[in-house]
Amino acid sequence: MFEVKTRDLGGRIGKLVTRHGVLETPFLFPVIDPHRQVPGLPKIRDMGFNGIITNAYLFYKRSRGLIKPIHDELAWTDVIMTDSGGYQILIYGDVEADNKTIVMYEKSIGSDIAVILDVPTGSKMSFEEAQKAVWETYRRGIEALPLIMDADQLWVYPVQGAPYKELVARSTILANKLPYDIYAVGSPTVMLEKYKYSELVKLVVTVRARLPPGKPLHVFGVGHPMIIPFLVAVGGDLFDSASYILYARGERYMTETGTRNIRDLVYFPCNCPVCSKYTPQEVLEMPREGREEVIATHNLHVLIKEIKTVKEAIKEGRLWELLEYRSRAHPALYEAFNVIKKYVKLLEKTDSTTSPSGKALLLFNADSCVNPRLRVNVRKALSRVGVTGKTVILIPAYRKPYTLQEEYKAIAGLTGTRADVEALFIHPLLGVFKPSVSSTYPFYQHECRITRRTANPAKIAKLIDKVVELGARKVVVVQAGWFTEDLFRKTTKYLSEGVSRAPLFICKLNEISSLLLQ
Ligand SMILES: [Zn+2]
Repeated sequence: MFEVKTRDLGGRIGKLVTRHGVLETPFLFPVIDPHRQVPGLPKIRDMGFNGIITNAYLFYKRSRGLIKPIHDELAWTDVIMTDSGGYQILIYGDVEADNKTIVMYEKSIGSDIAVILDVPTGSKMSFEEAQKAVWETYRRGIEALPLIMDADQLWVYPVQGAPYKELVARSTILANKLPYDIYAVGSPTVMLEKYKYSELVKLVVTVRARLPPGKPLHVFGVGHPMIIPFLVAVGGDLFDSASYILYARGERYMTETGTRNIRDLVYFPCNCPVCSKYTPQEVLEMPREGREEVIATHNLHVLIKEIKTVKEAIKEGRLWELLEYRSRAHPALYEAFNVIKKYVKLLEKTDSTTSPSGKALLLFNADSCVNPRLRVNVRKALSRVGVTGKTVILIPAYRKPYTLQEEYKAIAGLTGTRADVEALFIHPLLGVFKPSVSSTYPFYQHECRITRRTANPAKIAKLIDKVVELGARKVVVVQAGWFTEDLFRKTTKYLSEGVSRAPLFICKLNEISSLLLQ
């Protein structure tokens, strides 16, 4: 059972109930190596992971198919997810067991969350081969259903087809026909290794947009803190990571803004228990196993910290701001952020955009304006200005509360009883809005510094065009705050032809009364 508690953008904090406890999503499963696990499971539990993922096929091979309860085998009392061996297919071409055998095995050993034996498409397959993998996975999805009907485990259906978007979409539509508890997207690890973050975001959006919102989505093999906020924002709920140990073997140290080789570090930019205890030099001087354990431990710490950061951002309604901030860490992340901006209409549908988050919106630049929390409210406010046939006085909003600005007080005094004049605020990032909404969210609950860069003439021209389009007879801009004469001159160059229908002026506060008499 999956229940969404809080949402922001496409991200959600949810509760996934399993036979061995509840996972709070977004959740990341550390991938466990049954032969040689570093760091040990008790340490992983202590870090706060109450779920792990391991490979059922490796157990099957090791025990020659003999059924041993997996919780006993691993001495782990919390949630265990098992992958089926699909990854081995990808690497070695085939496995020595068929779908039915693996599904029955996973069922018998008592996995809490189990994956059918899918056929991953990887990144080297031709379109035709990938298409075959999609259909074969679907066939196996149907084949497994009678076997798992009576199971009280959660079953996962992996969507295939990447990197071919069309196939991914088709595979998701097929997935929807099958009543699985969780859907997963197989993401070629090459996308992560090569920093193809925008491709990853597109892949997850393609799947998420075609799935029922009540179903959790697992993203396979994406265990780097850099990309997690972006994938959560487009609807990823579950992740797994082997990269914490794979990176550690290559002396690679994860941070939420990038990967560093510890040979390049003099200081550890982290306060987790191992980074507090050792210097990079001391770690380098350790025997190989000790070194791997220290780096892997740090990598797991930074992963769980990132998951918590994302959850806190969702709770506060500040996931967009987190993306804005994190997108500056690497051009590949900024590229991924730009992809998310293109899907903002989709995110508006899932976001609780109109409900105030209780936190002020932090507005920096044009990127901040794409935030659905801002967009939806700005659009709504603009649609309600009611200016048909009226003279519109646009007062630059520059100091909160805007209704206490001297320009507003003076103009409200002049126009109070006149039905043919409408005084509105204009703000480069908040658009055009009525004074009556200036005390509501987010027109009051925001933080912003208007500079020459934020007061973009093209953007302001669009706002004025919109006021004219809504039927204004005449538009008067008050020269105050950030709205200078110079900005007005530049703005007029961007106005559309239609503006000639309504005269446009700029004037100082003391000139308003004479202008209104005209
Ligand atoms: Zn650390």
